[in-house]
Amino acid sequence: MPDPGCPGKTDSLMPAVPRPLPPDIVIEEIPREDGCPPARVSVRIQASARSRRIRLRVPPVGPVVLQIPPHAGRDGAIRFLRSQHTWLLKALARREVVATRVGAPARAETLADFFAHHRRLSALGKSYPLEIGTTIGKRELIIWKRDTAPVVFRIPCGTDTETALRTATRHFAAEVLPARVAELAAQCGVQVGRVSIRDQRGRWGSCSGSGTLSLNWRLVLLPPELQDYVVHHELAHRREMNHSERFWDLLREWNPRNGWLDRALTRDWSWLTHLARDIP
Ligand SMILES: [Zn+2]
Repeated sequence: MPDPGCPGKTDSLMPAVPRPLPPDIVIEEIPREDGCPPARVSVRIQASARSRRIRLRVPPVGPVVLQIPPHAGRDGAIRFLRSQHTWLLKALARREVVATRVGAPARAETLADFFAHHRRLSALGKSYPLEIGTTIGKRELIIWKRDTAPVVFRIPCGTDTETALRTATRHFAAEVLPARVAELAAQCGVQVGRVSIRDQRGRWGSCSGSGTLSLNWRLVLLPPELQDYVVHHELAHRREMNHSERFWDLLREWNPRNGWLDRALTRDWSWLTHLARDIP
């Protein structure tokens, strides 16, 4: 439902205040026939001395790559890119299917990029679709009632989209993660102290000797199984403040798929702890 103050803007993934891009990255807008807003695709332009022709590539993760051989100019390469819009949308959709199957979405550089391909949030053991709209108010709004889908973020018109998305996601995490900790702690028979939602660098969580659990706000971006696994891991530290055999036995008892989940977290999702870090 669009806000009256923001005519026609129901989807605000298009940044209201554009962020500077690295010089070799361009955003290609691809119109869609189904009435959806145009797809915004990051394309890395790469000069290639060895290529004989202009090449467009969709790697398993990250931006699309447009390779330009020495004899071709940038303008010609952009024209080629425009002629390949239909193919590009299909290739990106195929990549998404593969990424979903292996459990992790394509590596994203920004939160807006992440939500463009994987617009879901996890809370209280379930995954919910996320809708992003705008508000004429000054603050981000989060509309969600437990067990009703979807989660709705309304971000203020005219603000930096990336900053607003991060604020809303952090607030959502601060609401749902302590509640999930309480649920799982009760199931496991463990006492916890405070739950603090933090912006950790390169880690998902930690547990202090006094029982404070510090959790990374990005946990709401993980699938619910992985989010719960991280919480179980930190709860197990309430019994064992180490990674001894006894610790892993306890974790296996609470979460029998812990080996598989640990591997998925390390192999497919660790990049997520670096997402949206450089925002003030
Ligand atoms: Zn640990």
